[in-house]
Amino acid sequence: MRNEEFIPKWLAWEITRRCNLNCIHCRSSSTMESEEGEFTFEEAKKLMDDIATISKPTIVLTGGEPLLRKDVFDIAAYGTEKGFRMCIATNGALVDDEVCKEMKRVGIKIVSLSLDGSTPEIHDDFRKQPGAFDAVINAVEHFKRYNIPFLINSSFTKRNAFDIPNVYKKARELGAKAWYMFLVLPVGRGEDANEELLNAEEANYWLNWHYELEKELILKGDNTILVRPTCAPHYYRIFRQNAKRDGLDLKRRNLVFGTGGGKGCVAGQSIALIDCHGWLKPCSYFPISDVNVFDIPFSKAWFESKIMQDMRKIDEFKGRCGKCEYLKICNGCRVRAYWKYGDYMEEDPVCDYVPVKIRLKDNNKP
Ligand code: SF4
Ligand code: SF4
Repeated sequence: MRNEEFIPKWLAWEITRRCNLNCIHCRSSSTMESEEGEFTFEEAKKLMDDIATISKPTIVLTGGEPLLRKDVFDIAAYGTEKGFRMCIATNGALVDDEVCKEMKRVGIKIVSLSLDGSTPEIHDDFRKQPGAFDAVINAVEHFKRYNIPFLINSSFTKRNAFDIPNVYKKARELGAKAWYMFLVLPVGRGEDANEELLNAEEANYWLNWHYELEKELILKGDNTILVRPTCAPHYYRIFRQNAKRDGLDLKRRNLVFGTGGGKGCVAGQSIALIDCHGWLKPCSYFPISDVNVFDIPFSKAWFESKIMQDMRKIDEFKGRCGKCEYLKICNGCRVRAYWKYGDYMEEDPVCDYVPVKIRLKDNNKP
């Protein structure tokens, strides 16, 4: 069933699973031995033709390391021709003059880089690759020379969370358009690193820290860098609660290439991932799929997949999320719910908020 309220605005497209790094938190457990995307350039074009029949989303070519795929710039050029805002997510290691010239030629709008530590020691330890930090710095220098805008994604677990304020400062100093603080999820290789994931209390601490940072930027009218925690939807609750506590009406900025709207999570509502085999998933971290865009056209799959439809039925969400007064601006993380309860419609376990409805009910108990 087609519902115009839910149209793709941002798609991550895993064009290869091969990667030259071996990061502990990788959602796809990529290595150099991982599969190439099992589709040809002709199939890629057909897929983009079909996506264009329903919308003109931002498309982020991702991996693995997308620059390892030989036709990456042919795919990007075709996407630009179709009217999509084409972006690339890279670890930076393969960025050189030639790559930058190609990015300019094919109209890449913004590149996202990963930086998980403010020093080579911290970043390289997290990425399990000596020289990874220098590769990011080298990529940044190239992007600046070629005037290619970039944003920085930073992933955190217990191992590197202490460095969060320094990583923000580094992203700012490097000239990133945006800095996205990401609290690592228990999927892919992250599963083995579960012990290292931040718990609800630690997540709260850093989300409150982030609120203070964002507040300061808004109050100063400082638009140098846009900041946003990603995949921590309950930050939208924390932000609203704290602003109310502080008696402030804070107007938040949105990045043109962001995943959209004033809502914490829009998985399957306006964003999705197409993996290297064509499986369509509500977001980059979602572990399951029920539809393949090389079997069924994307334009049908987007509306007809049961999983994608479920993502839009927020009235059917369960547990605390289902009763929460912040659900419409938050949504809860469906991946964390699935990981904890085996049911993506359940509550988000990394949020410890008890909604008013539940508190009132408990108070009325005899
Ligand atoms: S479901 Fe979770 S991991 Fe996926 S986009 Fe939403 S918050 Fe992020
Ligand atoms: S209970 Fe669910 S909907 Fe409410 S703030 Fe927490 S994660 Fe968001």
